[in-house]
Order: sequence, then structure tokens, then C-alpha cells
Amino acid sequence: MTSPLWRPAYIGLGSNLDEPQEQIRRGVNHLEELPQSVVVLRSGLYRSAPLGPHDQPDFVNGVIAIMTELSPQELLSYLQAIEMKHGRDRREERWGPRTIDLDLLAYSAMRLSSDDLTLPHPGIANRNFVLLPWCEITPHYRVPGLATIAQLARLVDINNPQIKRLN
Ligand code: AMP
Repeated sequence: MTSPLWRPAYIGLGSNLDEPQEQIRRGVNHLEELPQSVVVLRSGLYRSAPLGPHDQPDFVNGVIAIMTELSPQELLSYLQAIEMKHGRDRREERWGPRTIDLDLLAYSAMRLSSDDLTLPHPGIANRNFVLLPWCEITPHYRVPGLATIAQLARLVDINNPQIKRLN
């Protein structure tokens, strides 16, 4: 039997309900408990104005890099299980408030488009709340089909007053 390879994967965390920084801290703890995986890098946290409806609290966002033997589909299932543990109801409105949102941003050099998983995550290129924290940890990682994180981060508005680094 061949053993699976260790591959890098990047996970975006976001929360805007029930003490978001605490939710992110708990989310990272859960990621540290993922089987066949090791958290290797974690960004600082950023506070940003919500996409979509503005009558909701600001979000807190961060990005984590892991090395994993899990397949992307297995990883997505674990991320969704963690979201459920945080009391997230997946019927919540799109763009609405959420206790925790975990996105599989990218998985090694993989490009994939299936019913329940798109890699890299389609929202990466224009989201400063993803690119700024991500740029702190792996600026030279090349997002498959796009550019490096540093190049993408230069294109989003870093001085946007709607985003602010915490801690
Ligand atoms: P959201 O409500 O933003 O968390 O979106 C979750 C939905 O997006 C789920 O139905 C997932 O199957 C789907 N999805 C597709 N690609 C991804 C990805 N790369 N990371 C997380 N969810 C994804």
C-alpha cells in the first residue's frame, strides 16, 4: 500500500458572531486536532467590514497553513464538521453573519471544480481580508492559475480603512 503524500493546504477563517476573536482561536484549536495534519503557519488577525449586507458586525479573519495527508474532499468534510461544532447552521443566508466560516483556499498546486469543491477557492483574488493575512505567512506561494500571494495582495487596496490588523 502506498502512503499518502504530505501536501500544503491553506485555510481561511472568518467570524462575526459571539466574540469573533474567541471563535477564531477555537477554530485554530480544532484545526490543530485534524488527523494526518499539522498546522505549520498562522497569520495575524484582521478586522474587516462585511461583504454583502452591511447591517451585521465586522468580521475577524485569519489564514492558516497546514501540511496534510488528507485529500481536499476529506479536508473540506472536516472543515464543515468544525463549522457545525461551532453552532453554524449551513442554511444561514449567503454573506450573512456567522460564528465561523472555514474556507479551503488552496491545496498544493491543485485545480479542481466539482459540485461541492472549487480549488483554488474562487473568491481569493479580490478579497483583501484573505490576501493580507495570507501574505504574512506564504507571500511566495503561487496560487494555481493566478499569481503569487504577494502579487495578488499588491492589487487589493491595502490602505482600505475598512480593514485593520488586530494584535
Ligand atoms: P460558505 O457558505 O461560503 O462557507 O460556502 C460553503 C459552500 O461552498 C459549501 O457548499 C462548499 O461545498 C462550497 N465550496 C466550494 N469550494 C469550496 C472551498 N474551496 N472551500 C470551502 N467551501 C467550498
